[in-house]
Amino acid sequence: MRTSPLPEFQAEATLTDTPFPPIEAALRDLAARRGLDLHEGHGRSIWCELPVGEFGAKKRGEGTLLFARAHRAQDLAALQSEIAALSAEAPAWSSGLDAGRFPPNFSLARVHSVTRIGESFVRLRLESEGLERLSHDDSIHFRLVLQPSGTSEPVWPSIGENGQTQWPSGGQALHRPPYTTRAVDLAAGWVDTDIFLHEGGRITDWVLAAKAGERIGLAGPGGSGIPEATRLFLAGDETAYPALARMIEARPDARGHLWLLGKSADYPMPQAEGITTSHLPQDTPALLQALRLIAATQGPFDDSFFWMAAERGAVSQLRGLLLDELGIDSKATHLSAYWSDPHSPAERPARRSGGRVSRPDQSANPSPRSAALATGDDRTGG
Ligand SMILES: Cc1cc2nc3c(=O)[nH]c(=O)nc-3n(C[C@H](O)[C@H](O)[C@H](O)COP(=O)(O)OP(=O)(O)OC[C@H]3O[C@@H](n4cnc5c(N)ncnc54)[C@H](O)[C@@H]3O)c2cc1C
Repeated sequence: MRTSPLPEFQAEATLTDTPFPPIEAALRDLAARRGLDLHEGHGRSIWCELPVGEFGAKKRGEGTLLFARAHRAQDLAALQSEIAALSAEAPAWSSGLDAGRFPPNFSLARVHSVTRIGESFVRLRLESEGLERLSHDDSIHFRLVLQPSGTSEPVWPSIGENGQTQWPSGGQALHRPPYTTRAVDLAAGWVDTDIFLHEGGRITDWVLAAKAGERIGLAGPGGSGIPEATRLFLAGDETAYPALARMIEARPDARGHLWLLGKSADYPMPQAEGITTSHLPQDTPALLQALRLIAATQGPFDDSFFWMAAERGAVSQLRGLLLDELGIDSKATHLSAYWSDPHSPAERPARRSGGRVSRPDQSANPSPRSAALATGDDRTGG
């Protein structure tokens, strides 16, 4: 039975040829696999609740009514994709979104400036409409959306006739890696994101050649937000520095440790009085050692949170140490692979489920499911 108020932004679609039981079963299965919060209404309705809203199904005659409800307009499309993926019959949504237009979580931005802020970092300032959606602390990431090289006629995502977001595919597929919202000025209409320059990176190549006024897409928000615990144990490589900087700035009251992996740590990282910062150029082995020492001397870890993001292999090792070896509650962790090194040893299979352990989602066209997950709490690479 429902006890919480309905989220404001809603869409519905009737499936005339699909009875309720298979959708109900598929939703139960999805909720079990992903550890989602499942609710039921007397055998006639079923839905999953996420921080950003909910999606579910109701018995409607011989057919089924699908629904998606979001607290913010920009999250609705992703929730629609979640429930639609459970049906073989294509739903026609009645969300009031206009076919052919940009999805509400997408906007086109213009390059304002690219400024060197460290040996291997630039700050990209983009101007765009609709930046309010990126200004919240509960979801601090978005995707840069880049055309394939050599495109003369750009094709951007749009709302399809069925009310769902259509992403260009094939030769028109867009590159859309996740980045972190470093700062937003809504009055001036800009957003800053800090880009780690690395060999072979398509965004690296693009940003180093970008001219003022050049266009790029912004999709989001997505991913996780600022942890709320009193004591924070934060760590990451260069790709995570911008997210770590956001956390340090947002939590001047927090106590704890910040470990910066990576060769030089040449980045304008803010300082907080209660957070001890260490640079670990020796990388993951040094971090594992530091965490073992913390575990031996500073437990128990009540009201504490372990937020760590780095290359996938490093995260796998952190997961092994924190969850399996030290027995930290997975709910008190966010361990996220921010990129994958194709040359690193194969990732060790996860031994636990239900924790906030995520994989990088670097594909040019992530599935609707992973896009939607970015609004929940995989939160894919969040
Ligand atoms: C939630 C989230 C937030 C992120 N925020 C940021 C951010 O704020 N700033 C930032 O710089 N990055 C951030 N990243 C990481 C970024 O998305 C990846 O590094 C991404 O691959 C960069 O895209 P690209 O087009 O430059 O490289 P791609 O064209 O996707 O990859 C090309 C090659 O580069 C390699 N590669 C990717 N990343 C690295 C790296 N760090 N070092 C060495 N080789 C690499 C890949 O393995 C691949 O072989 C974030 C990732 C996630 C999941």
